[in-house]
Amino acid sequence: MARKPMMAGNWKMNNTVGEAVVLTQEISNQYDKEWPEALDIVICPPFVDLKPAKTVLDFDRTKIAVGAQNVYWEPKGAFTGEVSVPMIKEIGCACSIVGHSERRELFGETNEDVNRKVKALVGAGLYAIVCVGESLAVREEGATEKYVTAQVRAAFAGVDARDAARCVVAYEPIWAIGTGRTATPEQAQAVCAAVRATLAELFGAETAESMRVLYGGSMNPGNVEGLMAQPDIDGGLVGGASLKAESFVQLVEACR
Ligand code: PEP
Repeated sequence: MARKPMMAGNWKMNNTVGEAVVLTQEISNQYDKEWPEALDIVICPPFVDLKPAKTVLDFDRTKIAVGAQNVYWEPKGAFTGEVSVPMIKEIGCACSIVGHSERRELFGETNEDVNRKVKALVGAGLYAIVCVGESLAVREEGATEKYVTAQVRAAFAGVDARDAARCVVAYEPIWAIGTGRTATPEQAQAVCAAVRATLAELFGAETAESMRVLYGGSMNPGNVEGLMAQPDIDGGLVGGASLKAESFVQLVEACR
């Protein structure tokens, strides 16, 4: 089954509102009306930039989706500092990244938290970009596939196939994120294939074949082609290279 590629930009904690408006406008200025036929594009700015970025894209009638980088699973209440799914939904977000390795490593996000967030998102009609990936120590132990597929199982525990089908998995080896060190296309393909095989066990082959599995970790215009040539890599979740309109647009072009 042919899957529509996806290019998602994770801005991390970069860009004030003013800077976000400029970057979104620069991307929008290079918008090609044929992009939506060929691929799905998402930008994931910080929370405060979501509404301004969405406003720019809507004003320009640009079919680029906006997603959050994180979300809390409770809809409202005494959770100081958190932002809920209904809040991001109301301002037009299509999705949220969940389980990014920086959230897992720096903020103690667990597999159980990731699962709650996935359920909250799909329950509200949004989708999750579920990040999974191993540390260098896990890779050197030879335990990568076991570790990553366990993360996939935990993230989707209790999620039904119809909701899972709308979600996206991003395989992001931690040792490749922001380091300039990319997984080889073969390394990335091997893990993305294992992710898909796990999705097939959980949800059946047809659903697994329809789900997008992205690669993330120092993806850039120089290495995107080799990664995109792999049968189980359906696009990218990109940090550094999404912060300049020129490189992000080059990545979008490479995915169509
Ligand atoms: C990311 O933040 O998800 C990421 C892959 O970052 P980078 O592209 O900078 O490695």
